[in-house]
Amino acid sequence: MPALNDVIAALDALWPPERAEQWDAVGTVCGDPQAEVSRVLFAVDPVQEVADEAVRLGADLLVTHHPLYLRGTTTVAAGTFKGRVVHTLIKNDIALHVAHTNADRADPGVSDALAGALDLRVVGPLVPDPTDPAGRRGLGRICELERPETLAGLARRAAARLPATAQGIRFAGDPGRTVRTVAVCGGSGDSLFDQVRAAGVDAYLTADLRHHPASEAGQHSPLGLVDAAHWATEWPWTEQAAAQLDAISDRNGWGLRTHVSRTVTDPWAAHVASSAPDSDPTVSASSDASGAPN
Ligand SMILES: [Zn+2]
Repeated sequence: MPALNDVIAALDALWPPERAEQWDAVGTVCGDPQAEVSRVLFAVDPVQEVADEAVRLGADLLVTHHPLYLRGTTTVAAGTFKGRVVHTLIKNDIALHVAHTNADRADPGVSDALAGALDLRVVGPLVPDPTDPAGRRGLGRICELERPETLAGLARRAAARLPATAQGIRFAGDPGRTVRTVAVCGGSGDSLFDQVRAAGVDAYLTADLRHHPASEAGQHSPLGLVDAAHWATEWPWTEQAAAQLDAISDRNGWGLRTHVSRTVTDPWAAHVASSAPDSDPTVSASSDASGAPN
């Protein structure tokens, strides 16, 4: 059975911490380096629900995409939301390790997993990492569709392939527009509009798109926008990451058991569609899973 140290070293080789953004807080949050690890849970968010799931599972290590503490703290008292997570983990001998922007930029990274979930063929990074001579690492991915599809079809595919959330999928642009190329970025991607425009793709799939950038994107180009829940766009990475650790475990004879959390930690609990009498009924009927009237 490997020690936490050994497993962390393997994870750091997949997602070197020095490749994280300056502002990020990646690495091991809690855990005894010498403790033995046999069961590992992967999740997007280090929230209480997920910590409780790790306890139920008997996990020794929880690996999450989002940091627990992005900034410094002066307390881990169990009376605080995050302190309670720390207490739950330490009391149950569970280590917490974070791979965030270092996993975004990796090859394969978070956006490769998102592209893979939709069966998109990755051509290369949207924002290449200049330190990678192979040109494979970086933020976001530019992808090709196997066969051209309408924007509404691409949105439906995202709705079918990504885990279900209250938000579902929303899109902007002509629903019938043909999409051959698409940029994808797991997580909040509206800081990358310039690069998306420069890439000349037909559509952009990401999360957390805000009013002004989305509105401007539509006015300056026929770019189709597909917006999913933040958690849903990053969740495919947990499956990819678990498979990567499985392969390492097999190579080393570690016998690790890896699990992927299916707990929906997207903060939005419900979605009520507005009535939109002028909308195209074929689009709203097929893309609205909430059952609200058209
Ligand atoms: Zn994120």
